[in-house]
Amino acid sequence: MTPFKKRNLLIPISVALFAVILYSLNKFVPSLKSHIQHLEIIAISLMILMSLVVMLLWISLGVFGGLASFLIAMIFLYRPLTDMNPYYYSVLIAAFFLSSFIGYHIFRKINVSSQKYTVTMEKIVEDTNLIRNHLKNRRAEVAAVDVKVDSLLKLKNIADQLSLSLSSEKIVKIVTEQTFDIFAENRRVLLFTVNERTKELILSSTSKSDKRQTFTTKNGGIFERWTLKNMKSLLIKDIKQDYRFSIANEELSDDAVSVMIKPLIVEGNVLGLLRVDSPDDTSFAQHELRILDIIGEIAAVALENASLYHKTEELAIRDSLTGLYVHRYFMERLEEEVKRALHSGGTFAMIMMDIDNFKEFNDQHGHIAGDMVLKNISRVLKSKVSAGDIIGRYGGEEFAFMVLGSGKKETLRLAEEIREDISNATVTIRRIKYAVTVSVGVAIFPEDAKHREDIVWEADKCLYEAKAKGKNMVCSK
Ligand code: GH3
Ligand code: MG
Ligand code: MG
Repeated sequence: MTPFKKRNLLIPISVALFAVILYSLNKFVPSLKSHIQHLEIIAISLMILMSLVVMLLWISLGVFGGLASFLIAMIFLYRPLTDMNPYYYSVLIAAFFLSSFIGYHIFRKINVSSQKYTVTMEKIVEDTNLIRNHLKNRRAEVAAVDVKVDSLLKLKNIADQLSLSLSSEKIVKIVTEQTFDIFAENRRVLLFTVNERTKELILSSTSKSDKRQTFTTKNGGIFERWTLKNMKSLLIKDIKQDYRFSIANEELSDDAVSVMIKPLIVEGNVLGLLRVDSPDDTSFAQHELRILDIIGEIAAVALENASLYHKTEELAIRDSLTGLYVHRYFMERLEEEVKRALHSGGTFAMIMMDIDNFKEFNDQHGHIAGDMVLKNISRVLKSKVSAGDIIGRYGGEEFAFMVLGSGKKETLRLAEEIREDISNATVTIRRIKYAVTVSVGVAIFPEDAKHREDIVWEADKCLYEAKAKGKNMVCSK
């Protein structure tokens, strides 16, 4: 039942008031009766009004409230109504009750259907919101798929570029640049490689936005050491909050707050580390580490391929006994240097060298001892090279040496040094030390010859001159 409200009292009070007014008019103004011939008309009008009022009461107070109001109204209307014709009287009472009761039910019906309408509307609004949310989620999903597709295309692009490259330097550059391209701005990408000989980490390449600091810890810091030791990827949201690390000043002075590192591993061998960092602590979700992992896997295989290719190439161009370039490769390089010198107007020296009386040495001490001498001489020669100089094993016990940018005077000085060093470089055979001597010929390009064949020929001629003059000496044109 509808809860009782104070304002509902107004309605029965007003009903009572109408009844009192009607009764008083009838009782105390008898002339009214003569003036108004048809009191019944007033009563009927009042009854209609009352019906409406009682109907409202049915509605506001519910069935019992309505019945109670009806009874109260009847008590107060009793007097004026009894003055009427009893026929009108009973019809009016019945009409009064029926109209209010029917009105109440009609209202209920309207109310229920309006409630139903409200419920339907609410349902529609709710469904619309659900659809809207669903659409929003779908749009976000589509956007995420777009980002994924974009990342995959970029990954494919990296894979394509890397598959075309067999140079470690190029691979390192491609990986850092492309990784930087995949990860949003304000990130920094660093690629460390492991030196095969010293096993030390070296920062080989960096890609960063101008806003970011330059990474100064060139051999890696605490995070790189952790990754090397654990051989697994590392994701740090905030370096100051991560319980695994107590951060040293070196790391704190850097602007990186969030860090991801992927070790580049092939068959249990760490070739390097790929690091992406950011100055925001909100950076790096797990899916970004997955992307870095994929790049790392591709990069590791590419670096390994490049290293194998380099090793194979080295095997093909290096003499197995001495580690010096083989004749064929030396001649290729000579051709290049001739072209370069002709094009740039530069100069280079050609040194030809032959061991003196080596046949005799072999005969006396055996071929193995002879091989030791060859190795020893190659060591001396290697110790004398500068970056870019090229030494080849020209023949059995003949060596050729290209010194780039060198003139006659300094080349003769160098050749003399080499000759002396070799004569002092002893090999120990059955606890006895032996040394060999070499004869050396020097020619300068383009001073002494202007063609590839000619420069070799000129240096060779000088070598034979040295032999002819008594060996263990340096001769030039
Ligand atoms: P010369 O002073 O005139 O050069 O006399 P030589 O005895 O050195 O004469 P030649 O250059 O003709 O001798 C070459 C010798 O070098 C022949 C061979 O026994 C030796 N030889 C060439 N290649 C090798 C090698 O790979 N190992 C060894 N142990 N000896 C080699
Ligand atoms: Mg010879
Ligand atoms: Mg010889």
